[in-house]
Parts: sequence; C-alpha cells; structure tokens
Amino acid sequence: MSEVRVRFAPSPTGELHIGGARTALFNYLFVRKAGGKFVLRIDDTDLERSRADYIDKLIASLRWLGLDWDEGPYCQSNRLEEYTREAERLVAEKKAYRCYCSVESLASGRSAARRDSKAFLYPGSCRNLSAAEEEAFHKEGISPVIRLLTPDQGTTVVKDEVRGEVRFENINIDDFIIVKSNGLPTYNFASIVDDLQMGITHVIRAEEHLTNTPRQQICAAALGYDLPLFAHVPMILAPDRSKLSKRHGATSVEEFYSEGHLPEALINYMALLGWSPGAGGEEEIFTLEEMSERFDLQKVNKTAAIYDVTKLGWMNSHYMRVYDLDKLVEAAIPFFEQKELVKTPLEEQDYCYLKQVIDAVRERAKTLVELAEASFYFYHDNFNYDDKGVNKHFRKENTVEFIRQAAAKLRQLESFDKEAVESQYRSLSEELGISTGRLIHPTRLALTGRTAGPGLFEIMALLGREKTVERLEKAANYIENNCLEK
Ligand code: GLU
Repeated sequence: MSEVRVRFAPSPTGELHIGGARTALFNYLFVRKAGGKFVLRIDDTDLERSRADYIDKLIASLRWLGLDWDEGPYCQSNRLEEYTREAERLVAEKKAYRCYCSVESLASGRSAARRDSKAFLYPGSCRNLSAAEEEAFHKEGISPVIRLLTPDQGTTVVKDEVRGEVRFENINIDDFIIVKSNGLPTYNFASIVDDLQMGITHVIRAEEHLTNTPRQQICAAALGYDLPLFAHVPMILAPDRSKLSKRHGATSVEEFYSEGHLPEALINYMALLGWSPGAGGEEEIFTLEEMSERFDLQKVNKTAAIYDVTKLGWMNSHYMRVYDLDKLVEAAIPFFEQKELVKTPLEEQDYCYLKQVIDAVRERAKTLVELAEASFYFYHDNFNYDDKGVNKHFRKENTVEFIRQAAAKLRQLESFDKEAVESQYRSLSEELGISTGRLIHPTRLALTGRTAGPGLFEIMALLGREKTVERLEKAANYIENNCLEK
C-alpha cells in the first residue's frame, strides 16, 4: 500500500477552534500510527476573510499543542494557477462549462426554492451554449463562473470510515460553481484538487463537510483521479447540545492557553471528544504517543461529542500535579509575570524560589492562572485577611498572645527550615497547653490571608524568618485593633 498521507486544512479566518484542533489531533494520531506524512495546508482562498496574522496564530497554536507536521504549510493562495489549469482542462474536456447567468437572472428560481423550503439548484441554463452565444456574453463584458457538469441521475456514495456508506442522490446535486467570476476557486474545488495533487490518502475532517464530499467525489472523478478515503468526525456540542459558542466559555486554543491550561491536558481532553480508546475501560489519561498507538478511526463515535468544562479542569489539574517541575515553571512564568509576581529574565535564586513556590502550590491549582493567584502571598504582603477566617480564628480568645509568642519563638530559631519551624510550633503548643491547630489556623491566616493552602510549615520556610515574623506581628496588631472588644 502507498504511504498514508493526511492533511489538516484550516481556514485562517479566526483563531484555532477546539473543533479544528480536535480534527488536527485525529489526523495526527492516525498518521503517526500509520507512519505516514502529515500535511498542513492553509485554505486561504477567501481573500476577504483570510488574514496573515491568523495563519501565524494557527501555527503557534498547533506548535503549542505539540501537533507537528511533515509538509507545508502550503497556502492555497499560492496555488491559484493550479486550480485555473485544472478547471480549464475540465472545460476543454467538456466536463465543466462557463456560465454567464447573472445573480438577478437566477433570483426568481432562488426565491421559488426558498418559498418551497428547498435548496436552490442551478437549472443548467448555460450547459449547452454555442460558441457564438458565449462570444456574445463575452462581448457584453460578463465575467463567467465555471460550473462542473454533474450527473443528473444515479447516486453518489460516500464510503465514510466513521459512518459507513452515506448515499446522495445526484438529482439533488446541481452543476455547482468550481471557479467564481473573480477567477478564484470555490472551497469544494480547491480542496479536492489539493487533496488529489498532494496525494492525500485519507481526508479526516469535521462532520459539517460531509455534504461537500459527494461534490468533491464528482470533481475527483471528472479530474480523473482515484478517490482518497474520507472520515468525518463528529461535532463538538455544548452541554445543552447547542452549537458551541463564546457563551460556553473558551472555544479557541488560544483562549485555553490564556486560561492557563497545559497543552497535554487539552490534547488528552480533546482526544476523548468523539473517540473511545476501547479496551481498558476506565482509562482516561494518555500521552500523545500512547494515544496514537491506540488510535483507530473505527472507534471514532458517530454521535456528537459533548464539551464538558469540568472534565477539562479535572484533566488539567491532573497534569499540573504530575508535570515535570521545571517544565511547569517554564509554562507558568508568563502567568506569574502577568500578575506582576516575577519579572523575566529571572536570576537563578528567583528561579529557585519560584520553583519551590510552584511545587508547594500546584497540588491545589486547576490552571496556571490559579497557580499564579494562589502564589500571591509568596510575593506580596498587601493581601486582606479572609473575613470568615477572621471570625473563626482571629476573634478567638487569646489568639493575639499565641501569635505574639509564636513570633518570639520563631525569632530565636537558628535555622529556619520546615522541620525546625514545625518542632518549634509543636513545643510551643505543648507549653501553652493548646492543640497545634489552635496555633496553625491563625498563623496561616496571618501569613497568607487565607484559610487553606499548602502545608503551613512549608510556607513559613519559604517565606523565611523575617517575613514570617513580620506578618505575625502585623496580624497581632490587626487583631488588637479590629477584633478585640474595647
Ligand atoms: N478549510 C476547511 C475548514 O476549515 C477545511 C475543510 C476540509 O478539511 O476539507 O473547515
């Protein structure tokens, strides 16, 4: 069998949507397993809506996801001559023809179709124009479109790798336009010309293109090429089964990045949108390599996948916990910078501190944004005390004394590591005849402003003696001024 070749062909008219990214991923998994080539193609023949900066963004998003390709990016806008050449060949072979019908002349047919709730089908008025008639139109200065001569009878069968055979009656397929009056190819034509010329063996794309496929198959037959195999992957819908849109949260890869997701988590999550790895049942965490080993188009679902933010959050927190620490730090730095916690380039000592902070905090953060938020007090003193915490811990009898004594004890410590701080706290609570919790809770609130977080002794060791003692004193003053009956 010849080498497997797939392509991902985004239109650069916006950011990379989760649906598009999932299509890219399925292509990637399929081709890596098959040991073939992955072609990146940019469908940019819609000159008005395509933008160069979107091409850069698409490429950046694919790279961030780790979906590397072997060939391209090829831009359709650089291949316009190919489409013209192929279209002219079809005209010369009488498999396509020029059509001079104006929008106005087709208007009544269009409105009649609308009235009957039917799709408008071009009636074929220009199918058999004589050379003289063509010449006359030409003289009038009318720029024609080129239409493909399509069969009026019979059935076009799409043998879809996911959905099986899907039949389309040719009577419902009109002589559609392959080249517009401005000389640019339509999507259906450019897409199949590229797929054929680029030797694509498997077209794996979104379900919304299934209705284009019979047209592309008819094109391929006219062009005289063998068909690639087609696989249409299911839509991704919102939980209420409506079309996924902004109101459901992030929908583009860039937005998922900005929300602080890790690429591995997004990849893992997307793979399970519409694909079930099968045997093994409950398993849900896979690396890209593991996924491509197991990927199989036969196991792609026919029904729509439902986008579930909670599950993505769960996956992301999983990856946050198990990620290589240095890699996590690298990924987190832009988010820490955004919140003005660090400034790059980082001195070695600041990098080490950041690394320890992240290691302490990562257990509880679902995203890199949360990670940076949860690290605020490691960098700044100007936080407020949580109201509930104040009522619960600061307003308790004797708290001021406990905190002051703790500060005094810590000041005496020679080394200020986690173990030393902890044993100091334990012996102080014994001396005072109270539980360690009675010391720990107000201390946490004093040092972080919060009632929950990483291990307190770890926090203290990271903050160091000076800051810890300072914050304890500050909290004691706060309690005296705000929490005690006067
Ligand atoms: N440019 C089309 C899209 O982004 C590609 C469709 C295809 O894969 O053929 O939807």
